[in-house]
Amino acid sequence: MKKRFGVSLSEGTTQDLNAVASKLGCNRSAIVEKAVELYLTELKHASEEHTCLGVMIITKKSSNVPIENVYEEFKDVISGYTHYHVRNTCVDVVLTAGSSSRILELRKNLEGCGCLVKYVILH
Ligand SMILES: [Zn+2]
Repeated sequence: MKKRFGVSLSEGTTQDLNAVASKLGCNRSAIVEKAVELYLTELKHASEEHTCLGVMIITKKSSNVPIENVYEEFKDVISGYTHYHVRNTCVDVVLTAGSSSRILELRKNLEGCGCLVKYVILH
């Protein structure tokens, strides 16, 4: 059952929402509901210790960044990784599984090495 309540959005966000809804041919409520679900998942994810499954996409500015040492330190939560070179940029894709706080610590370590890290939650 759906609940209805009023939400105020900025003019810019409203324009973006209208444009995307029109382009995708779906209604605004469906987009807002999915966006709220995703955001709530991220908020809950960061605040509750749990067994986590996800993929880290790591972009390194230089191949001299010694992140293999970080991988070794966090092998308890790294199931495996692959390494790519794309237009003079190193990209690692790391499958993580285990303690969410350890995975968060891994992310902070990688960011501390100057890496750009995007984490995709798979559970
Ligand atoms: Zn998680």
